[in-house]
Amino acid sequence: MMSTIILGSGFTGLAAGIKTGFPIYEASNHAGGICTTYAKDGFQFSNGGPHFLFGKGVGLDYIKSLVPVNEYERKAGVYYNHIFPYPLQTTAQKVNAVNKGSLKEWLGNTFSQAECNLFFNPFNEKYTAGLYDQVVQVEEFKSPPAGGVGFVSTFCDPVNGLTDLVSKMAEKCTINYNHEAIGIDTKEKIVFFKNKHVKYEKLISTIPLGRLLRLCGREGDFKLPCTSVLVINIGADKAVNTPDEHWLYVPFCKSGFHRLCFYSNVDKSKAPEGKVGMAVEIAYYGDQPDIERVSFEVIKELQDWGMIGKVITIDPTIVKVAYTWEYNKGDAKKEIDWLRERDIISTGRYGKHKFQGMVDSIKDGFEVEL
Ligand SMILES: Cc1cc2nc3c(=O)[nH]c(=O)nc-3n(C[C@H](O)[C@H](O)[C@H](O)COP(=O)(O)OP(=O)(O)OC[C@H]3O[C@@H](n4cnc5c(N)ncnc54)[C@H](O)[C@@H]3O)c2cc1C
Repeated sequence: MMSTIILGSGFTGLAAGIKTGFPIYEASNHAGGICTTYAKDGFQFSNGGPHFLFGKGVGLDYIKSLVPVNEYERKAGVYYNHIFPYPLQTTAQKVNAVNKGSLKEWLGNTFSQAECNLFFNPFNEKYTAGLYDQVVQVEEFKSPPAGGVGFVSTFCDPVNGLTDLVSKMAEKCTINYNHEAIGIDTKEKIVFFKNKHVKYEKLISTIPLGRLLRLCGREGDFKLPCTSVLVINIGADKAVNTPDEHWLYVPFCKSGFHRLCFYSNVDKSKAPEGKVGMAVEIAYYGDQPDIERVSFEVIKELQDWGMIGKVITIDPTIVKVAYTWEYNKGDAKKEIDWLRERDIISTGRYGKHKFQGMVDSIKDGFEVEL
C-alpha cells in the first residue's frame, strides 16, 4: 500500500515519525543526524560540533517529558588577548538599519566602522567562509536590542547526553537504516534507494534542501549556498589562560577558527578533574582543508595563548552541510513552494535551509502539515 514516507532520522524526522507514525528512511546506520554525544578518554563530546538546547516551547517541553535536562545561563565572550562580554551588540552602537544588501552591507549600516573593523567584519569573513559580501542577513533573531541580553540567555543540556534523547525518540519510530535516497521521480512519486524503490503518497523530507532538489532533478538556477565546518574536539590539560566562558567568538587568529566552545565549562563532569574539553569550529566553502595540518596549527595557537596545555585527545569531524545561506531573501522559500506543489514537504533546519536549532527542528517535525 502506498503511504507517506519520511526522509532522514535527525530530530526533525524523528519528531515527524512520532507525530504521524509514517516510516522513516535514513541514509546512515543511526538516528540523530549530527546531534549525538560520545565519550572518549574520559571526556564527553558532541558529534558534528557542540550541541546544546536553545529555545523554548513545544520542542523543549517534549524533550523534558522524555529525559531530564540541566539548565544553564549562557556565558560567552569575544576573545582578543582579553575577553569581552558577548553579545557585543548589547553594548555596541546600533541604529535601526533597513535590512538591504549583503550581510556585510547590513552590518556596515547597523554598526559603526570601528565596530565592524574590530569584530563584525573579521568574525563574519571566517564564519561565512568568505561569502560575507555575497550572502544576505539570515539571522536577524540573533541581533538583540541595544541593552538586551541577546537571542539566548539560557540553554539546556540532557543530563545523560543527546544520544539518550535520540534513542528514546527513535524507539517510537519505524526507521529503515542504510537507506540513502539517490533519486526521486516527482511525477510517478517514487523514491529510489540503492536496491529498491518506494512509491509515496506524500514525501516529508528533512534532508538538506539543495540535495533534495538535485534528487528531484530540479532544473534551473537555484542557488542555495551551504558552507561546511571542520569541528575539532580537544581534551587537554588546563593552562594559565583557560577561560571560564562556555563560548568564545574569535575575530582574529592565525589558524582560521571563528568560535570555541568549552564543554567542561558548561558541566565540569564532561572532562576529568583539572582538564578542559573543548571544540573548535573552522568554516570553509568548497575544498576540504588539510585536517591534520589545520589541527596541528589550531593546537599550537591555543597552547601559545595559554588556553590549553598538553593534549590528551583530539577528534576532528567534518559537517559538509553546516551553515545555510541565501544570496537573495526568499530563494529557499521559492524552492520549498515548488516542492510542495509536487506533494513534497521539505522541513526542519536543513529542509527549510534556515538557521535554527534542535528545539525548533523538533517543533517543525511535530507541526508538519500534510
Ligand atoms: C557546527 C554546528 C553546531 C550546531 N550547534 C547547535 C547547537 O548548539 N544547538 C542546536 O540546537 N543546534 C545546533 N546546530 C543545528 C542542529 O545540528 C540542527 O538543528 C539539527 O541537526 C537539525 O536536525 P534535522 O533533523 O533537521 O537535520 P539533520 O540532523 O541533518 O538530519 C537529517 C538526516 O537526514 C539524513 N539524510 C541525508 N541525506 C539523506 C538521503 N539522501 N537519504 C536518506 N537520509 C538522508 C542524514 O543522515 C540525517 O540523519 C548546529 C549545527 C552545526 C552544523
